[in-house]
Amino acid sequence: MKIINEIKLDFDDVLIVPQRSTLTSRSEIQLERTFHFYHSPRTWTGVPIMCANMSFCSFDMAIELSKHKIIACLHKYHTVEQLSDYFIKYPQNLDYTFVSIGYKKSDLNHLIELKEKLGQQPNICIDVPNGHMDVFVKYCKKVRDHFPESIIISGNVTNTSSTQELIIYGGVDIVKCGIGGGSACTTRFLTGCGIPQLSACLENAYVAHGLQNGAKKLGLICSDGGHKNAGDVSKALCAGSDFVMLGGYFSGTEPCEGEWEYEYLCQIINNDRSIHSEWWQPSDPRQDNKKRKTNFTYYGMSTHHSQEQYEDHIKQYRASEGTKITVKYKGVVDKVVQELLGGIRSCCCYIGSNCVKNMSKCTEFCRVNQIHSNKNPTVGV
Ligand code: 5GP
Repeated sequence: MKIINEIKLDFDDVLIVPQRSTLTSRSEIQLERTFHFYHSPRTWTGVPIMCANMSFCSFDMAIELSKHKIIACLHKYHTVEQLSDYFIKYPQNLDYTFVSIGYKKSDLNHLIELKEKLGQQPNICIDVPNGHMDVFVKYCKKVRDHFPESIIISGNVTNTSSTQELIIYGGVDIVKCGIGGGSACTTRFLTGCGIPQLSACLENAYVAHGLQNGAKKLGLICSDGGHKNAGDVSKALCAGSDFVMLGGYFSGTEPCEGEWEYEYLCQIINNDRSIHSEWWQPSDPRQDNKKRKTNFTYYGMSTHHSQEQYEDHIKQYRASEGTKITVKYKGVVDKVVQELLGGIRSCCCYIGSNCVKNMSKCTEFCRVNQIHSNKNPTVGV
């Protein structure tokens, strides 16, 4: 047994220190980045944010986010037919829609079937709860052998040697880093395992960027889990993350697929047909009243609920490392994206960085008592 005495940090443990700046307006900030990859020969340009491959991330979300050049990792339960129909109808979204798979032979077979149907290789998100296992590196390598052109993001890990291994031997371009930080994740409670997310970003970005292939293309990471607000996303980017993956942040927005709650408009009408009074209530007495969304419920992808919904059977040997979250309706996803991008732009201004790419170079973090970074939960009102 060994104890690491250095304190590992989460987003709430730090603030980004404002710096002198020569920028004159937030509109000057370049949010897009262009990446070359360690393995994939593709070049990718866009805003380095991803919607997590959770149950609410389906085609409508991908269509909306692609308009902002943001990536959507589709949940892994789409059929080959649904996926091929989508890519044939929206060929321009190939860069911004990643197809997710888990660690099952049939997952890889479906992906190969999709490739054959489409005549091209989709970008891929390989997602397992614990990516530290040797067999997982071999599995990623197998996927890479079938998909030499695809951009492959894979994880999750927090251990730096696993990040190196996935890039060097697993054929992975972007390593998804984060264990236990997700909004619907109970891993830390159930297993006691995990690493605070800011430290996970700092340490894994450092080792990934230290890896260069022959053509001088670097390993990349994506911070995944626990970004509660735009400030946390900025902190992850400042800590060196190349991409940031968001689940809960996009939940409850207009294109989310899943369990919605509604309220219904009830009216009392006067004899002259004018409205006497009206109110919204959670049940609909007439079954055909005007309705509006109020709440959205999503489930961690490894909850028994998700397994029951999508898999043939619950794996008895596996505990549910996830929970159910209900959030208020947030409106169209565009609104949430604008708030997010506005926050990143402002952060760049505060630290004097003219682009997302340079954020980490301009960053000085100061450690704070958590109360300072948690002060204002009513962002975006
Ligand atoms: P969020 O942005 O919601 O804080 O985190 C999203 C991430 O949580 C996902 O990308 C995924 O890595 C993780 N996640 C989603 N569902 C579960 C789950 O059921 N259990 C665990 N341990 N992690 C989950």
